Amino acid sequence: MINGEKKIENPIRWAMVGGGRGSQIGYIHRSAALRDHNFQLVAGAFDINAERGLDFGVNLHVEPERCYPDYKKMFEEEAKREDGIQAVSIATPNGTHYEICKAALEANLHVVCEKPLCFTTEEAKELEALAKEKNRVVGITYGYSGHQAIEQGRQMIANGDLGEIRIINMQFAHGFHSEAVELDNPSTKWRVDPKFVGPSYVLGDLGTHPLYLSEVMLPNLKIKKLMCTRQSFVKTRAPLEDNAYTIMEYDNGAVGTVWSCAVNAGSMHSQKIRVIGSKASIEWWDEQPNQLRYEVQGKPVQILERGMNYLYPEALVDDRIGGGHPEGLFEAWSNLYTRFALAMEAADQGRQSDDIWYPGIEAGVEGVRWVENCVRSAENGAVWVDYF
Ligand code: NAD
Repeated sequence: MINGEKKIENPIRWAMVGGGRGSQIGYIHRSAALRDHNFQLVAGAFDINAERGLDFGVNLHVEPERCYPDYKKMFEEEAKREDGIQAVSIATPNGTHYEICKAALEANLHVVCEKPLCFTTEEAKELEALAKEKNRVVGITYGYSGHQAIEQGRQMIANGDLGEIRIINMQFAHGFHSEAVELDNPSTKWRVDPKFVGPSYVLGDLGTHPLYLSEVMLPNLKIKKLMCTRQSFVKTRAPLEDNAYTIMEYDNGAVGTVWSCAVNAGSMHSQKIRVIGSKASIEWWDEQPNQLRYEVQGKPVQILERGMNYLYPEALVDDRIGGGHPEGLFEAWSNLYTRFALAMEAADQGRQSDDIWYPGIEAGVEGVRWVENCVRSAENGAVWVDYF
């Protein structure tokens, strides 16, 4: 149970790059980091526009002299202070992640980076090696992976409740971009421009989320080959896709699919994962995150509710309020930020933290690798490709 008592000795001095006023994702980073007193927001380069960033930072109670015009200045100035920042979250458009993450690691900072970590596996591997060399934590915000229901699914699969795993169906298919909303929405505009997002739109922006849920629930499953077809239904988005289907074969004979889509008209989110075993299946849907469907062949459906004592103890560890009341995205993110903090403290104290799982740099690398393979398949006419 999480009740706000301290989990680490001292809150980590923390800054943000991006996540400024009007950004989509900035607030949930702050909410998640600050909720359990694991982090203290002391600095930031919050906005591409320095003046707006300063005004915003001051409104977040950050000292004006620690609201910086850009991340380079921030890393340089903070390194001179005895009470300088120890960790930074990067919540800027995708094309900037690689350079900011690299600079942060070089400045000996722990990092929480938005997905995608970068655009090529080569760059991702470089960041992974740098993080290892510097003994720094890199957390990636696949937010819902911190939800109790996902941990319950992980435990059920590990304990054999589903039998042998055969099929994994995944999707993240919302309808918000069924029309060219990017024409007047700055948060969407960069998402459909290869200059800012690299080789893909929905595969990277959406598909990697349920893909990571499958990695959490099935940590030993390895993709052997995949096939991907992608489309740009809003034509001006080409060559970037607003819809894609990926089929995967795993090395143990299981198969999986990911539907990544931003033009599923009428759909609010539809992020789902269904894991099908030889005895039973589980299904989780982000629009009803507190319920996990458990379907045993030949028996009535069971709806497992978050916070109930019949869940595995590993799932209840992160409970905040007990069953009945809803917990959702904000709690899942807070759980992740707590784990990031525990891992950061352990690294600073020279301890191992292998017992704490969280989406780390390897999750970042895998997301980039998956997108790269999907694009390679799609670009070659939706052919099967070996997974590199
Ligand atoms: P946004 O366009 O709404 O906001 C971006 C913010 O970054 C703005 O405040 C902008 O001023 C600032 N910014 C841009 N370049 C900057 C720079 N060089 N230095 C400092 N600040 C800079 O974008 P968003 O929707 O909030 O997305 C940001 C990132 O978060 C993206 O990588 C996106 O993929 C990711 N994201 C993740 C999730 C998730 O569930 N994990 C959800 C949404 C977005």
